[in-house]
Amino acid sequence: MKPILKIIFVVAVLAGAIMLLTPRNEVESVNVYSSRNEGLIKPLLDEFTAETGIKVNLLTGSGDGLLTRLENEGRNSEADLFLTVDAGALHRAKSAGLFQPVQSEMLNQSLPAQLRDSDNEWFGLSLRARTIFYSNERVDPSELSNYLALADEKWRGRICVRSSDNLYNQSLVASMIAHHGEAVTEEWARGLVANFARKPVGGDRDQLHAVASGQCDLAIANSYYYGGMTASTDQASIDTVNKVSLFWASQNDEGTHVNVSGIGLLRHAKNADAAIKLIEFLASESSQEWYAQANQEFPVRPGTELSPILQNWGAFKADPLPISQLGENNANAVRLMNRAGWR
Ligand code: FE
Repeated sequence: MKPILKIIFVVAVLAGAIMLLTPRNEVESVNVYSSRNEGLIKPLLDEFTAETGIKVNLLTGSGDGLLTRLENEGRNSEADLFLTVDAGALHRAKSAGLFQPVQSEMLNQSLPAQLRDSDNEWFGLSLRARTIFYSNERVDPSELSNYLALADEKWRGRICVRSSDNLYNQSLVASMIAHHGEAVTEEWARGLVANFARKPVGGDRDQLHAVASGQCDLAIANSYYYGGMTASTDQASIDTVNKVSLFWASQNDEGTHVNVSGIGLLRHAKNADAAIKLIEFLASESSQEWYAQANQEFPVRPGTELSPILQNWGAFKADPLPISQLGENNANAVRLMNRAGWR
């Protein structure tokens, strides 16, 4: 064999070996950064992998921590999707230019327009209500009406709610600004703060327990915390649920304030096709039912069956305000709460 033929032969053998060693179909995968509790999402992701063969890598962290990480990683980020709670967080990600629009007929048809971003940069996946909870012993539900009435003097020293650095409260105030304007909302916030039973402390569950233990008579909290306690076998939860009831706020007005958990496709996603398939899977009927059963959240997809606990609370009018406005009003809400002394 001539030397040149020898070289060609060796190169051909090596190329063949490399081709044999490389799998023909690399396993498709998608990388998700999530601020949701792993237990609340992992079973669904496993189901997605079983159905599609697409592997899902999940990185869990705090919403703000993951946002900072995504900004630092820039175009080198491995992440394809950002999953988080509260429209405020989704808006922050959008404003930071982290998302890209998704064109999906399936998503446009399955999800109501007010529960997704107007530019299709994020999509609501589950719905939660932030409403009023009252002591069965010390409050008659006929005394309750809307959020504005919580500033009434009759509630002086009787209301528990968590601090203003919490996004859920910021979104509630953002919705109040959208409906009533800044001046009315600020006066309301001052009245509400005057009615606090104590300096804001703890999370939503703590406010519900505080009503049960007699520290306050009313609380504002997200519906799924109460739903989780209702489903729980833990004695403290059972005791609290027996002493505290849910009231659907503002039924004769704008409706009860609602918010979403949601997801967006990241600008630098390397696995965009698989990522969009995952978003569509999470919006599918079976995933939507699972959200209701596992976390007592309301499905975003109309017509999805509710869990027995959700059915038990009865139908309610949800505020139809586009969820994106909660994020848009967030900065004003935070400043307003500071001025009103809501710490
Ligand atoms: Fe929560």
